[in-house]
Amino acid sequence: MRALPALFVVAVLIAAAVYVADRPGAVSLVWQGWRIDTSIAVMIFAVSLLAMLAAALFHFIRKLVGGPRAFIRARRERRRQRGYRALTQGMVAVAAGDAVEAKRLARQADVLLAEPPLTLLLSAQAAQLNGDQRAAENYFKAMLERPETEFLGLRGLIMQALKDGDEDEALRLTRRAKELRPKTPWVLASLFELQARTGKWGEAEATLTLAAKRKAVPEPASKRHRAVMLHEQSRVASADDRPRDAARLAAKANALAPGFVPAAVRNADLLGAAGQQRPARKAIEAAWRLNPHPDLAAAYGKLFQDERPLERIKRFETLAAQNRDNLESHIALAEAALKARLWGEARRHLAAAGGTERNTAPSPRVCRLMAELEEAEHNDLPAARLWLARTASTPAQEPAWVCSSCSGETASWMSLCPHCRSFDSIEWRLPGHIPMPRLDAATEMTPPIQVLGPATGIVIGDTAPRL
Ligand SMILES: [Zn+2]
Repeated sequence: MRALPALFVVAVLIAAAVYVADRPGAVSLVWQGWRIDTSIAVMIFAVSLLAMLAAALFHFIRKLVGGPRAFIRARRERRRQRGYRALTQGMVAVAAGDAVEAKRLARQADVLLAEPPLTLLLSAQAAQLNGDQRAAENYFKAMLERPETEFLGLRGLIMQALKDGDEDEALRLTRRAKELRPKTPWVLASLFELQARTGKWGEAEATLTLAAKRKAVPEPASKRHRAVMLHEQSRVASADDRPRDAARLAAKANALAPGFVPAAVRNADLLGAAGQQRPARKAIEAAWRLNPHPDLAAAYGKLFQDERPLERIKRFETLAAQNRDNLESHIALAEAALKARLWGEARRHLAAAGGTERNTAPSPRVCRLMAELEEAEHNDLPAARLWLARTASTPAQEPAWVCSSCSGETASWMSLCPHCRSFDSIEWRLPGHIPMPRLDAATEMTPPIQVLGPATGIVIGDTAPRL
């Protein structure tokens, strides 16, 4: 099939030759005393030959004239290709953490490519990788000069400021990033985090609303952040001697996140102090249903501290009924029974909480209560000591206030992690778990610029930097 056009051309040529041969004729050319007599076939052949020669000559002249320009163009193209190769390899070197190679390739790409927007980023990353923060900062600042790299440069400078612990500067830069791209999720999430860290509750609230709308902060987290902010504002109001504001804010925080233990405790404390026993009790009972916690039991006990032990037991039975089979319910009842000297009752609840000889991993808290019981009921000091010894050897761990960002522990709940300054990252759980990224959209793309701080990374693209 492919030979068909060629065959067709050959056939046409043969037909033309036959046509000419069948109709012979003569051509005479007279010019300036010259005369040429020839056949029509020779004339056609000669004219074709001349045309081909002219075409070849024209082609040759064109090559001769345009040659140097084409050569320069080809050379420039080769340079560009080498530049892009250096840029790509440099990015790979950054991703692989090869500092020396990254620096070399960044310089090479910079020389070969006359496109600063492309090479500035690589140069900045290479400088960071080499630990040259000053040079990295200069590159990021140079990126601010060009509209196409301004946003990326801001991002680099934000991370740099965070690494230096300069949260005010980071906040200033993030505000500028928000002006540039107000819809970018990581900008909103970071801006909120920084405003919350610096206690700018009004601004943080507005940013959180926007961030939740843009899905930069998931809905349950945004609700909880809001409750934490109200809780903090309530504490500030208490410190400023504004008890009515404090009570109002605490009630709001508690209502927004009824299972959030510190807010429930604070609300109940303030209500109790104002003589409002019933709403105080209800707040703790509601929190107990969602999230039983020793702090809630303690706050509950404080409400009834003047009552007789037997009456207190009744109160705690109401509390425990909100979450009957929970370990904390049994422990709370056992503690109340111990205070009321109801040994059988205390033993029953401690057994239900794992305080038996057979249990190989009772919780240390249960062991301590068992020791207390053995001593108080029978004055059985060896048995009490045995239980206390189990506290030390038991493999079971107690839950604690642990930062979900850096896994650091704190004695009590705080809105800012004292180790990594993450906002609202302290949660009640078993310690020693793998840290989870706080701003969950933080999936690192290549090339990562650098990991900053305990759980801080910069990410290229529209994903969140971990603060
Ligand atoms: Zn932390």
